[in-house]
Amino acid sequence: MGAISLRRVEKTYGHGPRAVKVIHGVDAEIADGEFIVIVGPSGCGKSTLLRMVAGLEEISGGEIVIGGRVVNGLEPAERDIAMVFQNYALYPHMSVYDNMAYGLKIKKVPVDEIRRRVDKAAKILELGQLLQRTPRQLSGGQRQRVAMGRAIVREPQVFLFDEPLSNLDAKLRVQTRLEIQKLHAELGITSLFVTHDQVEAMTLAQRMIVMNAGLMEQIGAPEQVYLRPATTFVASFIGSPPMNLLRGRGDGRRFVCDGSDALPLPVTAPRGGELILGVRPEHVEPGQDTGWPLHVEVVEMLGAERLVHGRLAGQEFTWRIDATLPAPHAGQTVSLAVTPEHLHWFDAAGGQRVEP
Ligand code: ADP
Repeated sequence: MGAISLRRVEKTYGHGPRAVKVIHGVDAEIADGEFIVIVGPSGCGKSTLLRMVAGLEEISGGEIVIGGRVVNGLEPAERDIAMVFQNYALYPHMSVYDNMAYGLKIKKVPVDEIRRRVDKAAKILELGQLLQRTPRQLSGGQRQRVAMGRAIVREPQVFLFDEPLSNLDAKLRVQTRLEIQKLHAELGITSLFVTHDQVEAMTLAQRMIVMNAGLMEQIGAPEQVYLRPATTFVASFIGSPPMNLLRGRGDGRRFVCDGSDALPLPVTAPRGGELILGVRPEHVEPGQDTGWPLHVEVVEMLGAERLVHGRLAGQEFTWRIDATLPAPHAGQTVSLAVTPEHLHWFDAAGGQRVEP
């Protein structure tokens, strides 16, 4: 029963001439049990959206429905949600057990029931041996697990995560990410997870919401967002290094960029005005002499692969190659080939995807 509907949700901070609208009408239908990641750069409104679902921020317009109930006017405690924050805010003087049990004690849940829920959460999170310790005696990763335990024992309809991994070091972040995946597989509770990290978004999400400047640019499964980005913003935000975006005009089977030779195309370009042609660095192959000429400027070795940076049709372009292939060197011009399924077209004015 943990489905969530966001209907034209808006947020304006401040009043009168000082009013600033930061969420511009977000619509999304989230199914019961789904794991949704809200991703976008700093300041795009992710936390505001999550906090509106939690009831920590008022909604300026639209409607939020959780489990069939409109929650706009409900207090956080009445929404049947549990939140995990970036700073876990554990009570320092309480044991792990008491930290997890505290919220239930306040709600006057019977002692036996509290013990059952805490033991269950401790088992899932492998905290069984640590229940008598205080937060000071725990590592950062263990503290984050206690914070998650505190959310689990409430047995809510919805989990809300606000950048819960940001304070962990790189290795622990990967480990905790896997734990969250296992947790979701086991409990199946609807989850909204906010992050600015596209790798976290790609790995955790069943579907992701990509936000930019208070607008939802795209909602979809990670594969969908990666393979068919809806806008140039999504194309350059998801994927690392970002998608190459070349500006020019279509002319049959050629792409004409200002001040350079036209690039040959394996398909006919969409008709119309100024276009952006997108190609991911990993979707380019070594080509024939008649391919796209990349003037190599810098080659970076990353271990398993190399990034070849340079200029193509007078514009910046990056090619990602397997490190076992012979590396081009700076100053060289290499010929590249592309296949039709790896070309993305966008309208240059609005940045929207265009189907050829
Ligand atoms: P994100 O979580 O994506 O980094 P936020 O949701 O925190 O973004 O913020 C979205 C926008 O709203 C930002 O431009 C931020 O400056 C603004 N904002 C956030 N909180 C407030 C507030 N209490 N008053 C005014 N503006 C705010």
